Amino acid sequence: MEKVAIVTGASRGIGRQIAKELARKQIQVIANYNNSEEAAYSLKQELEKENIEIDIFKADITKREEIKKLVQFVEKKYKKIDILINNAGISEYKMFTEETDEDWSKIINTNLYSAFAMTQEILPNMIHKKEGCIINISSIWGIVGASLEVLYSISKAGMNGMTKALAKELGPSNIRVNAIAPGIIETQMNNKFSQEEIKQIKEEIPLERIGNSSDIAKCVNWLIEDNYTTGQIISINGGWSIT
Ligand code: NAP
Repeated sequence: MEKVAIVTGASRGIGRQIAKELARKQIQVIANYNNSEEAAYSLKQELEKENIEIDIFKADITKREEIKKLVQFVEKKYKKIDILINNAGISEYKMFTEETDEDWSKIINTNLYSAFAMTQEILPNMIHKKEGCIINISSIWGIVGASLEVLYSISKAGMNGMTKALAKELGPSNIRVNAIAPGIIETQMNNKFSQEEIKQIKEEIPLERIGNSSDIAKCVNWLIEDNYTTGQIISINGGWSIT
């Protein structure tokens, strides 16, 4: 049977592209969404035109009960989970002194708790078959930090720590855990930037362009095919940050 992959936040942006590219590689994709139902259905329909069937599943990945339902659905239908892509995330542009406890909960729960809880729920299945691939979609800001995005940077730095620690814990179970840290990628998340700001950012990037979702999906494909890489935070940012 083909591999089975859950992609969180697959209705839009990077997650949508990852879901598409995995499905086109004969991987059985379960594309999670929360609010963007129409977009999720359009993804399913787009792939149906290519004779590819995917499942779409609504779940708020900040809620343990909804995550459990998603995982139970996959286990019942496919009996196994080979790949988990913790992609869903949100960002916020705000002075640190203006952040509230509600902002903290919203960002940390969506970007970090979700990866913690999703991973916990799928792990018994992966450990049982002694094989698995977990990919966390982190961010450049989790490595170098971003002004006006302190909570976001905290959430992604936490994700990087989780990636490294879990890779050590799960290595003996033949489960690889890696993260991809994108720079600026053209999605709705960056609608907050004006054309002038985007132009300025491009000037700081050695490869002189903003990334696209396919740049990230290609790395996901590679990480799935590879079998000796674990605990790595892979920067894909056109050389914007070279450490
Ligand atoms: P996006 O276009 O805004 O899409 C975000 C996705 O996350 C949507 O599909 C959304 O689903 C989903 N999502 C948000 N909250 C959710 C929840 N509670 N439950 C389930 N799904 C939820 O963002 P993107 O740019 O593709 O970002 C994807 C990932 O890449 C994020 O983790 C982001 O931090 C990271 N990243 C992005 C960039 C960038 O420049 N774009 C750079 C570095 C890292 P619904 O709309 O259906 O709710």
